[in-house]
Amino acid sequence: MEDETPRLIALPLVPIIDESIIPDKVPVPNDPLDQQFPIVEMFYSVQGEGYHTGIPSIFIRFGGCNLACEWCDTSFDEWENMTLRRIIREMAPWDCNRIVLTGGEPALQDLTTLSKILRPMGYELAIETNGTIEIPQDIIDWICVSPKDQLYSSVKIRQRMGDELKVVWVGQTLDMYDELVDGFTHHFLQPCYDENKDVGWNGKNFLSTFDMVRNNPGWNLSLQTHKWMGVD
Ligand code: SF4
Repeated sequence: MEDETPRLIALPLVPIIDESIIPDKVPVPNDPLDQQFPIVEMFYSVQGEGYHTGIPSIFIRFGGCNLACEWCDTSFDEWENMTLRRIIREMAPWDCNRIVLTGGEPALQDLTTLSKILRPMGYELAIETNGTIEIPQDIIDWICVSPKDQLYSSVKIRQRMGDELKVVWVGQTLDMYDELVDGFTHHFLQPCYDENKDVGWNGKNFLSTFDMVRNNPGWNLSLQTHKWMGVD
């Protein structure tokens, strides 16, 4: 019988890196609070996907990425260089101690100083990364890797340990993660949700991901609930 599992997206090999949208890593200045980071936006919201769905969090979106995924729904090619001092000042009004470093690709930046300053202030740091850059040990409290090797077969995942492995499912076989799953505590499959497509298109993706989760013990379903609510 013909396999009727929807094949949601063709898996083209697309160009990996557009050097022009990778911000320079700025050398760490004498006063760590003067260290600058390329920031697209900062906002206080509720985590919409993955393990911490529903948990209020501050999001810091970094500019630049070393990949160019076709379903990418974030703009990261324009940013403002902000000092750590200013980042702290802007977060101060928000009554929340959980920060999600996201992007773009936040691991392009030297996050060590940021961690040394923010954690003693009581902030808990989570990162959402594509896993292509290894994160220095013990600077982040929650590492979520969302690998994009379903699009980039030649890309190496270097961050192979963490708390959460969150895979956008576009029809790939899950055995490609066999070597990766043991390094992570929680495993999520997330349907590819495209706001520009209609309810039918997205609904089909939801259903096929739902089926994948039912048929593959050890994987849980992650839905991008913030998109349904129309919030960041
Ligand atoms: S790795 Fe993430 S931020 Fe970078 S292009 Fe892909 S989806 Fe967008």
